[in-house]
Amino acid sequence: MPVTAAAKRARELRKTLEAYNHQYYVLDQPTVPDAEYDRVFLELRQLEEQHPDLISLDSPTQRVGAPPRSELPEVRHAVPMLSILTETDTNEGAVAVFDTRIRKELDLDAAAPPVVYSGEVKFDGLAINLRYEHGVLVQAATRGNGEIGEDVTPNVRTIRSIPLRVATDAAVLEVRGEVLMKRADFERLNEQQRVAEAKIFVNPRNAASGFLRQLDSRITAQRPLSFYAYGVGELAGIDFGKSHGELLDGLLALGFPVFDLRCVSPGPDGLVAFYQEVARRRDALPFDIDGVVYKVDSFAAQRQLGFRSREPRWAVAHKYPAQEQFTELLDVEFQVGRTGAITPVARLKPVFVGGVTVSNATLHNADEIERLGVQIGDTVVVRRAGDVIPQIVQVALERRPNTARAIVFPSVCPVCGSMVERIEGEAKTYCTGGLICAAQLKESIKHFAQRRAMDVEGLGDKLIEQLVDQKLIASIADVYALQLETLAGLERMAEKSARNILAALDKSKDTILPRFLFALGIPDVGEATALALASYFGDLDSVIAADVEKLQRVPDVGPIVAQHMVDFFAVPRNIEVIQRLLAIGIKWPSIVARGRDQLPLGGQIFVITGALETLSRDQAKERLQELGAKVSGSVSKKTSCVVAGPGAGSKLTDAQALGLKIIDEAALIELLNENDY
Ligand code: NAD
Repeated sequence: MPVTAAAKRARELRKTLEAYNHQYYVLDQPTVPDAEYDRVFLELRQLEEQHPDLISLDSPTQRVGAPPRSELPEVRHAVPMLSILTETDTNEGAVAVFDTRIRKELDLDAAAPPVVYSGEVKFDGLAINLRYEHGVLVQAATRGNGEIGEDVTPNVRTIRSIPLRVATDAAVLEVRGEVLMKRADFERLNEQQRVAEAKIFVNPRNAASGFLRQLDSRITAQRPLSFYAYGVGELAGIDFGKSHGELLDGLLALGFPVFDLRCVSPGPDGLVAFYQEVARRRDALPFDIDGVVYKVDSFAAQRQLGFRSREPRWAVAHKYPAQEQFTELLDVEFQVGRTGAITPVARLKPVFVGGVTVSNATLHNADEIERLGVQIGDTVVVRRAGDVIPQIVQVALERRPNTARAIVFPSVCPVCGSMVERIEGEAKTYCTGGLICAAQLKESIKHFAQRRAMDVEGLGDKLIEQLVDQKLIASIADVYALQLETLAGLERMAEKSARNILAALDKSKDTILPRFLFALGIPDVGEATALALASYFGDLDSVIAADVEKLQRVPDVGPIVAQHMVDFFAVPRNIEVIQRLLAIGIKWPSIVARGRDQLPLGGQIFVITGALETLSRDQAKERLQELGAKVSGSVSKKTSCVVAGPGAGSKLTDAQALGLKIIDEAALIELLNENDY
């Protein structure tokens, strides 16, 4: 590119990045996904590499973050807080490029021993500096522009995982790490915001940043923020040994949360394995990460390598596929679920996000469409993180084409043409067709036949769709009346498979009451509720006869579920279907009704973390629940016992920190056997 054109382009790119930086760092409201920012940043960096004369000190490639927010007091950092260079994935591999550069800069020849590296996850939150004097937290500051940050001490004091006092009388201890919001906390927060018709947060990072940088610490206090330590700033009167690995161990010993997914590797190979292992576990981690960080482990070597303007020379980031990307909204389809709820589903131009190609995303309901202000043809930000279904989180209004058109929510069911209704106080819209609606019928039969319900092997989705479309079944009870000839006459169905399905249907008649209750598909009656109902009432007739008040005596059954149940059993057709099912021969062993609290593990809360080898996770959960225990996904002070298998991560650390009872799988099996009733 000629110099003048390059200079013009560099100016444009800087201006764009400055605007993005302001929106992201100062306002906590980015308008583009990180991947888009990184693309523009890389273009500018490459341009500046080709034309070094164009580099100016104020270029975003030479600076850290953005100036601090004016309303918060300023803090000058004793030791600057820097950024980290992202190593681009070339053919040679990011790890190899990093190792080669480090060996060169350390002047090591081929015969020299391998450099020892440390690997950590790259938390996608925001950096914080915690200053302790004589063991007491005296100040907490954000990174700001690296030199000057924002004083957020009162807010940080509300974060429970940050110790206010630590066991050291060192004159100064500055601990650095990341403040973030766990994914589950973030999803819960947005769910509450949706119900309250309040602001929806785009991603956990921006939510965490917004809450940390509040002027009113009472707002921060209400939000579940977490912290993990990964380094230090100024130190006086304290020594953490000779390496980064020792430093992290030392911080952990002092009571700072240090995430246990980390490694120390002599030479680059261990880092490659670490990168792959973290990639495998990324979706299951409780928070977002955007990559891993490799650091030269030895402090002496770190000192020798030193710093560039913006980042240390001894560390690099190696990123994973971004969890947010721009793509185009091609169309919106309306899907009708088992309960008749109509969900708008976005059809997207396929995009690689969060490690997979995504072409559909949920738009939740009519309110969400309105809140986003999204139209067909828009450029949207799609987010896919963890096992949460992909979502549209933002619309790039400035990219809207002239051809964009509004999304019209249907006034009749798109499948059966029945009227749709929106129940007062609910965000969802429902088809009123009930089982006349082929979509509802298909979904209820799929639900009925699934493994966790009646477990009819071979009665899969495609087959159910054919049976409904050809009007061969009109209710869940009809599946038991299917004849061999009917099944064998279907497309791609051999006689042997047809016989197998009939045998599976016959086998499924021997069930247990909780599965049968779950299989009926009563709105909001999940497996745990079905189990609680069965243990409490003991028989089906009592469940059907119970009124709203009585139903609520069952643990976990609230007014909404109770009302759904009463409504369900009040429909004559539902009772008729149940009677037909019983007449066909569906049966279960009788159980003794007992209030849940009288069960052996009644009132106890278990958390399972890590891998189990003998039992499957579902089996362990089911058996614990049968014994009256509740199985929760997160560790808290209320947890009675944590079952930890190999590879257990932060839940185990949290449990240790809280001094909870921790057992392994063998002890769990012993406990289950002892209490079997
Ligand atoms: P960075 O976030 O890529 O890396 C540096 C930061 O990593 C550190 O400040 C620290 O907070 C963090 N970090 C996480 N885990 C760490 C660990 N184990 N050890 C050390 N540090 C760790 O770089 P940056 O300069 O802070 O920000 C640039 C990034 O921010 C961009 O790549 C972009 O993705 C994003 N950004 C996005 C927008 C936008 O508009 N979407 C705007 C500005 C910046």
